[in-house]
Amino acid sequence: MTADSPTPTARVFCIANQKGGVGKTTTAINLAAALAMHGQRVLLVDLDPQGNATMGSGIDKNQAQINLYQVLIGEADVASARVRSESGGYDVLPANRELSGAEIDLVQMPDRERRLKDALQAVSADYDFVLIDCPPTLSLLTLNGLSGAHGVIIPMQCEYFALEGLSDLVNTIKRVYRNLNPDLELIGLLRVMFDTRITLQQQVSDQIRSHFGDKVFKTVVPRNVRLAEAPSYGLPGVIYDKSSRGAKAYLEFGEELIARVKAGRA
Ligand code: ADP
Ligand code: MG
Repeated sequence: MTADSPTPTARVFCIANQKGGVGKTTTAINLAAALAMHGQRVLLVDLDPQGNATMGSGIDKNQAQINLYQVLIGEADVASARVRSESGGYDVLPANRELSGAEIDLVQMPDRERRLKDALQAVSADYDFVLIDCPPTLSLLTLNGLSGAHGVIIPMQCEYFALEGLSDLVNTIKRVYRNLNPDLELIGLLRVMFDTRITLQQQVSDQIRSHFGDKVFKTVVPRNVRLAEAPSYGLPGVIYDKSSRGAKAYLEFGEELIARVKAGRA
């Protein structure tokens, strides 16, 4: 690097899908840990008041006195709110139920959709990747996530109604792109909880590929009980059982994403 080259800043990705229970948080936690295992510096932002990404990273959400809520309302900065996930090897901007109050508090505030983006700027040089685990709504919180990101990663199950729900999210991404964030792109769709024995899933997977082409990640995450067990130990699945099929898939996904970023495709 020459003296005048700019400080490298983090790639910021939202993990979003407006449906609940589709694997957003599992993807956020395991991608964060996988990227860390591949030598990347990672911040995981928990944008869901349920605080599952916080807990699944081994951090007690109820002990997080300074958390994302204070950051969004301007009472704390990211540097004082972030906590290290010792098990995962990455930093977490934690959340708990307090965050649901932000929806109401933010309405009155200036630049209410850009508060996360502004807050993250101060730590951007500390990380290679910032991952934002979005709630299953298109709320002001999610808008803060989308406004502050370079791209969106959509985990999805290959089920009958999956494509239908997707068009709402894709339209929201387009609206945010036009009105709030001209940097935003759809990075890709990640097929998760995949079961090769189910013909319908294979059919939907083919449909997704013909519709979205190379926006569909090559990696497919299988349904794997080890991934579901891991959060109760406060561990990412890729740490809890490194040799499980689920862990291997997320490690591979981390590599795929790094390669895409290097190739300028994410
Ligand atoms: P979301 O954040 O979209 O609500 P979660 O990541 O919390 O979804 O996942 C919903 C449930 O599915 C959780 O109980 C989680 O442990 C489980 N789960 C997620 N991905 C997998 C997978 N690949 N295999 C098995 N269970 C999974
Ligand atoms: Mg979640």
